[in-house]
Amino acid sequence: MIEKSFFIRIIGCQMNVYDGDKLRGELLSRGWREADGEDGADFVVFLTCSVRERAEQKAASEIGKFGKKWKKSRSPRLALLGCMAARIGSGLARKFPWIAVTAGPAHIGLVPDAMDRALETGERFIADRETQAADPISCAPRGRGNPHKAYITVANGCDQFCAYCIVPYVRGRFASRAPEDVLAEARALARNGVVEITLLGQNVDAYGRDFDGDARGRFASLLNDVSAIGGLRRVRFATSHPSDFTDDILDVMRDRPNICPSINLPVQAGSNSVLRGMNRRYTRDEYVSLVRRIRAALPESAVTTDLIVGFPGETEEEFEQSVTLFEELRFDLAHTAAYSPRDGTPAANRPDQVPPVERARRLVRLNGVQAEISREINASMVGRIYEVLLDEPAPRGEGLLQGRTATDKVVLVRAPLEMAGTFREARVTGSSPWCLEGELV
Ligand code: SF4
Repeated sequence: MIEKSFFIRIIGCQMNVYDGDKLRGELLSRGWREADGEDGADFVVFLTCSVRERAEQKAASEIGKFGKKWKKSRSPRLALLGCMAARIGSGLARKFPWIAVTAGPAHIGLVPDAMDRALETGERFIADRETQAADPISCAPRGRGNPHKAYITVANGCDQFCAYCIVPYVRGRFASRAPEDVLAEARALARNGVVEITLLGQNVDAYGRDFDGDARGRFASLLNDVSAIGGLRRVRFATSHPSDFTDDILDVMRDRPNICPSINLPVQAGSNSVLRGMNRRYTRDEYVSLVRRIRAALPESAVTTDLIVGFPGETEEEFEQSVTLFEELRFDLAHTAAYSPRDGTPAANRPDQVPPVERARRLVRLNGVQAEISREINASMVGRIYEVLLDEPAPRGEGLLQGRTATDKVVLVRAPLEMAGTFREARVTGSSPWCLEGELV
């Protein structure tokens, strides 16, 4: 048997991490070896993102760079996967012959066989819109270097069709996985020593709606069942949609202390007119009232959000309503972005685009407001003791490990690498808007 090696690069969201972990599990079970880097690999797998134009440009430039090496030795070959592959993979494969496999999220189940064939016979595999969707990879996910935390995708695709978003076109219609499949995967992970699982979907709160049109209670019930699995000390979920988040989820979170009180609830805009233009299906008041209910039910919770500035037609006054929303709700963290037009979405064709320089100005202003709020919230944690799951070496600072509180705050502590994967108590000794510093107690 010829030795085959791979290296996986994630450019994108947690769902790509999950797809990468499933592919890793399957390739390892077929006898492939995971290389330490791109240079030592026969195949480099790119899991890409289409949400923002810049992410696609970056991936395309990285893919282009492989040409030099490939022309010399016909190695490494590339597998281009993820949303960008679904959108423009076949076009890129025509341009770059070193792309041996390209397949979007609906076709990832075909990738392991395609990679085998590409190395054994040189056959290329280019999935496009005509290619029949395949069953997903059934092998249990295997993380790289992080054996105590894992993701599980509970639903693929999205039916919300927000006016700016490419996801429904590249990931397809909303499709929930059977609860027994999710639970079997969670049990297998727990048996292998995973202590923290994050349940993933573009809109987890709608879980089960595609079974019979009624999602009531379904995600709450799944969350409850996963959290009851022995050995799972932490269960998280992302992402929520404000119009589908129901109070029964809060009831389960209150009853189950191992469900982390950390909720990412994208608002996307602070003004009702922009929310309508975005097709978000809730008003500012409804959103505010939901955040208040979350905080009343879970006083120790951390609520984070996502928001886009400079959506087409957004006036200065409408933008200011995003600023006042941040000031009113004081999120723990906000993922903000300047609007990025994506071909094929309704918003990209609107004639009233906000000039890029104005989008950039609004982004800087909003980020400044949020940084101050996050700074104050994090400073209020100094002196308190939290349980943290120690994780991996901090990107900067020798001897520092990065851990996370149940509310998903990053805490940097001085600790030996052997402690990674363990729960420890840490006293917070310092803070910034982005993370906390602490010491083990
Ligand atoms: S809810 Fe809206 S923003 Fe989120 S994935 Fe679906 S269409 Fe995109």
